Amino acid sequence: MSSSFIILLISICLLLIGIILYLKNRRIDNQWNIPNGPIVYADIIHPEMALNSKSWYLRGKPDYIAKTNQGDIVPVEVKTGNHDQPKPWHIMQLIAYCHLVSDHFDKSVSYGVLVYYDTKKQFRIPYSIQYQNILTSTMNKMYDHLLTNKVYRTQNDETRCVHCSFHQVCPEYTDNKRY
Ligand code: SF4
Repeated sequence: MSSSFIILLISICLLLIGIILYLKNRRIDNQWNIPNGPIVYADIIHPEMALNSKSWYLRGKPDYIAKTNQGDIVPVEVKTGNHDQPKPWHIMQLIAYCHLVSDHFDKSVSYGVLVYYDTKKQFRIPYSIQYQNILTSTMNKMYDHLLTNKVYRTQNDETRCVHCSFHQVCPEYTDNKRY
């Protein structure tokens, strides 16, 4: 088999993979009404690299990052659960992603989108000065707690602890059997 034939075969395979990923992305994009434009990051479909903030010790992976036709970048977070209204902790997670995406790509971000898969609701959350201030104050509190090495649970929600990725190592984990 000649080397040019092998190169042609590899190119066709890569093209097909690209088309399949594009169509898969667009199908979900259409299903959840994610902002029009290319999806530049889709951790929910295939594992992506974690994004790092240049200004804070903050690292994370939003479910999607979409690019609008105007060139803006928009983080999108998809949540399960029977929610009709955005939960404050989901909003703050999305706001942290807005900061992370803005920092990582060195571009301003004006909003993020919260999608509730089970109720098919979605909310556009502005990356406003108020939310940025809340994020800054939360980050500062977290740094303080880390320095003192004293961190306590501030909620009593069994579901959140059970689904938390830190529950096996967290001394504050609750399955409500302690109450
Ligand atoms: S397991 Fe720990 S870190 Fe996770 S939600 Fe519960 S208290 Fe918070």
